Amino acid sequence: MDKFIYLDNAATTRTSPTVVEAMLPYFGEYYGNASGIYSIGVKSKEAISESREIIASTLGARPEEIYFTGGGSESDNWALKATAEAFCTGVRQNDQAKNHIITTRIEHHAILHTCEYLQKQGIEVTYLNVDENGLVRPEELERAIRPGTFLISVMFANNEVGTIQPIREIGEIARKHDILFHTDAVQAYGHLPIDVEELHIDLLSASAHKLNGPKGVGFLYIRRNLRISSFIHGGAQERKRRAGTENVPGIVGFGKAAKDAFGTMEKRSAYETKLRDYLIDRILREIPFTRLNGHRTKRLPNNANFSFQFIEGESLLIMLDMEGICASSGSACTTGSLDPSHVLLALGLPDDIAHGSLRLTLSAETTREEVDITVEKIKRIVERLRSMSQQYEDFCRRM
Ligand SMILES: *Cc1c(COP(=O)(O)O)cnc(C)c1O
Repeated sequence: MDKFIYLDNAATTRTSPTVVEAMLPYFGEYYGNASGIYSIGVKSKEAISESREIIASTLGARPEEIYFTGGGSESDNWALKATAEAFCTGVRQNDQAKNHIITTRIEHHAILHTCEYLQKQGIEVTYLNVDENGLVRPEELERAIRPGTFLISVMFANNEVGTIQPIREIGEIARKHDILFHTDAVQAYGHLPIDVEELHIDLLSASAHKLNGPKGVGFLYIRRNLRISSFIHGGAQERKRRAGTENVPGIVGFGKAAKDAFGTMEKRSAYETKLRDYLIDRILREIPFTRLNGHRTKRLPNNANFSFQFIEGESLLIMLDMEGICASSGSACTTGSLDPSHVLLALGLPDDIAHGSLRLTLSAETTREEVDITVEKIKRIVERLRSMSQQYEDFCRRM
């Protein structure tokens, strides 16, 4: 493939060569089942334990609180469905029945669609609004709490607009009312410091491929002594809570990716933030009728999301692709559909402006030169698309 500029790191990242190298022996050499008693099985078991310890230490958690899964979506499904099961039926049937979840309108579809599924099972869900920057208002969250609320699920940082939520305040509210607190930290884990004790987090989802690890492996942090049902029934793996022969190479890759990500976090974050701000400043200064979506400073170090008035985001993406630039209109799931992003609509953007949006997400490998090339191309493409827009012509005539 020709050289291209990859600016879609919120959708997925490149598995780093050091991660691939760490994984390789667990395909060919140490292929033993981690439940086996022969030595190559023991080698797999030890490798899983090591990854679990690395990951636990990055969160201020204990190794036995980390459960490996098949990715972020699975972790989100588990957190919601299994707490619902534990509180609404089964193990909690003698307690006062609880049937209410509080979440937000800007969650990933792994949360939103799971909530819709649970609503069909009779569970009630409150979807909190956010302010124009995408922030949850803690007072509004507290007002939404009812006697039947058993779970608050608020994402750590948004995958489309990058806004970082007031997680500590939310955790404190949950703790004060004795309600479980889950956070979808798939965008934040490996990019921001997280301490589950300090932030009062009971459940946390993460996924390896968002931090230069392999695809198809994630974890769910489950606070010790928490009553939650098993997710995949079968063998005794993951303390009998998530059955299935372990994805040993994936788990090893996740451990290595976490170690690398936390080791380089400060430096990487400073680099990305600087480059992000340079990109944002140039776009806003050099392209008229453009807005930045999401909070100016409370945002992921690598995220920039813009709306360009008078253009279609899809056309912009296609033209950028022809120029060798990989970007996104928001989330991978909405790309290709004509619906504007649910996140941008929740921020209060009118339909037509939400349609003209572009998400650029950087990595530590992105260079300033690549950003400069990208800005120049966006400038030219936006100008060209606007020159073909009737709406823009009408607007200019009125000015
Ligand atoms: C990518 C993402 C997910 C889904 O993770 P997968 O590992 O791809 O299943 C969930 N939530 C957020 C916020 C994400 O960015």
